[in-house]
Amino acid sequence: MTRPTAPIELTGTASRFGTAVRLPDGFVDDLRSVCEVIDDERATAEASRDWWPLALHWSIAGQVPNRAGAVVRPTTTEQVAAVVRRCNESHVPITAAGGRSGVCGASVPAFGGVVLDTTALDRIGDVDAASGVVEVGCGVFGPDLERVLNTHHGLTVGHFPQSFDLATVGGWVACRGAGQYSTRYGKIEDMVVGLEVVLADGRVVRTGGAPAAAVGPDLTQVFVGSEGTLGVVTRIWLRTHPVAEVERRAAYVFPTLTVGFEACRRIVRAGATPAVLRLYDGPESARGHGGDGTECVLLVLDEGDETIVDAAMSVVDTIATELGRTGDVGLVAAWTAHRNDTSALQTLTHKGFVVDTMEIAAPWSRLEAIHAATTAALMAVPHARAATCHLSHSYLDGACLYFTFAATPPPDQVDATYVALWDAGQRAVLGAGGNLSHHHGVGLNRARFVREALGTAFDVLVGLKTTLDPNGILNPGKLGLPSPFGDPAWP
Ligand SMILES: Cc1cc2nc3c(=O)[nH]c(=O)nc-3n(C[C@H](O)[C@H](O)[C@H](O)COP(=O)(O)OP(=O)(O)OC[C@H]3O[C@@H](n4cnc5c(N)ncnc54)[C@H](O)[C@@H]3O)c2cc1C
Repeated sequence: MTRPTAPIELTGTASRFGTAVRLPDGFVDDLRSVCEVIDDERATAEASRDWWPLALHWSIAGQVPNRAGAVVRPTTTEQVAAVVRRCNESHVPITAAGGRSGVCGASVPAFGGVVLDTTALDRIGDVDAASGVVEVGCGVFGPDLERVLNTHHGLTVGHFPQSFDLATVGGWVACRGAGQYSTRYGKIEDMVVGLEVVLADGRVVRTGGAPAAAVGPDLTQVFVGSEGTLGVVTRIWLRTHPVAEVERRAAYVFPTLTVGFEACRRIVRAGATPAVLRLYDGPESARGHGGDGTECVLLVLDEGDETIVDAAMSVVDTIATELGRTGDVGLVAAWTAHRNDTSALQTLTHKGFVVDTMEIAAPWSRLEAIHAATTAALMAVPHARAATCHLSHSYLDGACLYFTFAATPPPDQVDATYVALWDAGQRAVLGAGGNLSHHHGVGLNRARFVREALGTAFDVLVGLKTTLDPNGILNPGKLGLPSPFGDPAWP
């Protein structure tokens, strides 16, 4: 079975944020009566970090954001419930952690306490073959799930994030993740049929279970995207599809980004949903797809039933060749070969670059304005070197824009530059009509923007938190929610 992948070397075990909540005397021994507990310094430090790009600099300097006092590894829902109940009774923070591939510091125990490692909850349960629904333990990694589904059932979930090898199903759900084939298969929230969730007081609840419902608000969706702050998701029921019969590829080139956006918009509004529809702006086209710096490259890939795929690709071709020209289809193969390669992040971090990505969603009508405002705001930050963008996921009413930015500050200005870039970029997006996040979530990094992003609806989120977790023990310091342990020491 897959295990979490360390993002970069960790050269020490110090806590950057300083003081952590002290575990009560005898608490660790009590946890040991429930399940496996790890409390040695090295292992707890390793379990206390994720792929948040800023914290990679801290790892090289021998620091994690904050170190947990203990890591628990339950193997059953009952054990999860027993651990969470003990934390609640003793007011100890507890943070669920799956693959720890989050890029916003979401699984980092901001105030120390207990990290609940979900990766031993790795059972793939029953498959309802007629309905195409599979039951999955929250700690199952993507490759393990797809191997079993493909081999034994001829099925696929169709969720292929770039972090496919790094992340768990529980993490997909907790962050409202998106796979690279999402235009055909949907985002994770479209795939979840129901959940089993352990609440802060140790109660176990089940949500959903039917293809649709009119039984009050959708309680499954309350927990999808809650980043471990409202409950621990222990089991997930996911929709599946038959393994694809055929695959088709195409590439196109447009004179400007505006024309490229229009092509994608028309394709999706016409009802064609090719699995992959990725449009790169001029600089990204030049960097990775052979463009001249102005022209914009569109990569298209679809898979599934032959008749449906051919129809979708025909719609794509008609619209794309009306607005642009056919490109080199070999670019799609180049993308599929390298699409999950993360080595550039570590290389650039070692060279002292501040580098990160910011993905947002917005209506079609706002994309151009957001692209212009955000790249300009990022490049205006001192030491900024690059700010580029591609469109990565499309919907009937809009799309996800995925910005990549880099800066080369002096070593003592890494944190300040990182904060300035996120302040500039995220505020430009919000100001121009985009949202806070499309699929990476909030974690620690974006916590300071949530109140502004949700507006008056933020009170609803706070209400859910105080009702479901009155002692505030579940992943405190995240999602911008109030915490009884104070404010996280970042930024
Ligand atoms: C190189 C790279 C590429 C990426 N590409 C994508 C991409 O294409 N699409 C995408 O969506 N994301 C992407 N991500 C982000 C990340 O992989 C996803 O957010 C992923 O879903 C996180 O899963 P995880 O198991 O690693 O969760 P973790 O990082 O361990 O946890 C993330 C959050 O979920 C909570 N959580 C985890 N498990 C549970 C549970 N069982 N119950 C309750 N809360 C839980 C944690 O408390 C934390 O708040 C990428 C990350 C990297 C490093």
